[in-house]
Amino acid sequence: MKAEIIAVGSELLTPDRLDTNSLFLTEELNKLGIEVLRKTIVGDNSEELSDAFAGALKRVELVISCGGLGPTADDLTRETVADLLGRKLQRDDRILHAIETRFRSLRREMPEINVRQAMVPEGAEVLDNARGTAPGLWIEQGDRVIVLLPGVPKEMRGLFEEAIAPRLARRATGLQLFHRELRVTGLGESHVEQRIAPVYTRYKDVHTTVLSAPGEVQVHLRFWSDDPQQANKTLDEIERGFDIALTDRIFSRDGQALHEVVARELALNNTTIAVAESCTGGLLSQRLTSIAGSSSFFLGGVVCYSNERKTAWADVPPELIATKGAVSPEVAVALADGIRRRVGSALGVGVTGIAGPGGGSEEKPVGTVHIALAHTAGVAERALTLPGDRDAVRWQASQVALDMVRIYLLYGASDGKLSSKAQGRSSKKSTF
Ligand code: ATP
Ligand code: MG
Repeated sequence: MKAEIIAVGSELLTPDRLDTNSLFLTEELNKLGIEVLRKTIVGDNSEELSDAFAGALKRVELVISCGGLGPTADDLTRETVADLLGRKLQRDDRILHAIETRFRSLRREMPEINVRQAMVPEGAEVLDNARGTAPGLWIEQGDRVIVLLPGVPKEMRGLFEEAIAPRLARRATGLQLFHRELRVTGLGESHVEQRIAPVYTRYKDVHTTVLSAPGEVQVHLRFWSDDPQQANKTLDEIERGFDIALTDRIFSRDGQALHEVVARELALNNTTIAVAESCTGGLLSQRLTSIAGSSSFFLGGVVCYSNERKTAWADVPPELIATKGAVSPEVAVALADGIRRRVGSALGVGVTGIAGPGGGSEEKPVGTVHIALAHTAGVAERALTLPGDRDAVRWQASQVALDMVRIYLLYGASDGKLSSKAQGRSSKKSTF
């Protein structure tokens, strides 16, 4: 079955409000094997609304709208749909009674305008709304189903789960959506695309999307099928192809963020960590400690912004800062090493850089970041030039730092991917 969603409300056409209802509805419909072909947002205007419903009903079997069921004159969904389907509106006394009771229980009198919410297109099935006054409506017209839901997210969700989902499940065809999400870091969107296209283009029925997010790229696979075994086999094959194409750049296959993956690995490996951050200002500590149970691996961190604090809190020699500059591979290494020794952790991370927008120079432009990871066998260091504004630079720096920890936990210090000595300026350049 195919569906369209119509979100109704003039506020949804302003910069202040986002139509989030359709995200929920799409996810739930997908679970039921129903594909959403189009989403439309219309203001509180009967002509636009009528147009939207008429168009959707020509294209798909199921049209679900949310919003515009309120009692005020700008709530037009009921009237418009009744008109379009050539049905009369009738007062439903059971609804009226329920609305009156609701007001009475709140010790208030029902305003006369609420009677509008008891008006129902002939032949519509009324779906009780336990969370508000406007009931949902289920209308069948020929082979089409029209569902009208209130706009208030809590009410819309409740009605969908309790009344709509069970009705739709009975009509379901057995077609299901199979979905995989792989997350990749250290490669740009076009590089990921270039590497994986030869794999996924061989599978015409599987829809592949490559989405770029800050500091990572997400690859989504979507496959509609009525044969779970075959679908999973196909998706496994594609994933194996991606593994070869992207090697260790894939950090997550279950929607987990990079810091969640790293936290899990640190905990599993019984490895402790401490951080000394300059340009990320605590972001790395924040991300690592956002995970429940982080006290088992995160021992502590400092934000050492000034040169004096780098020396006082992470034992960076003042002469090193004077000769190499605070933003340098040497200082990143000293930060990582210093904090590791000070705290007594297995790993130490040092981050120093220029997040911008000011402070850059020709030699060290905005986005220059040095990150070091000190471990039992030495130190690894990376020099990066990260694009974007201040937030983007800081976020990407935290991603690279986390990824260095991930790679260390994957291969250990012995692997060539993490040298056992600081490499200074010759270290790997960022691929972002
Ligand atoms: P109802 O049909 O429940 O009476 P309504 O259109 O009368 O809805 P509004 O007052 O317009 O109700 O909206 C109620 C609240 O729900 C508002 O805060 C509105 O922004 C929010 N809302 C409406 N539609 C959506 C949507 N598609 N996504 C997210 N929030 C929404
Ligand atoms: Mg509205």
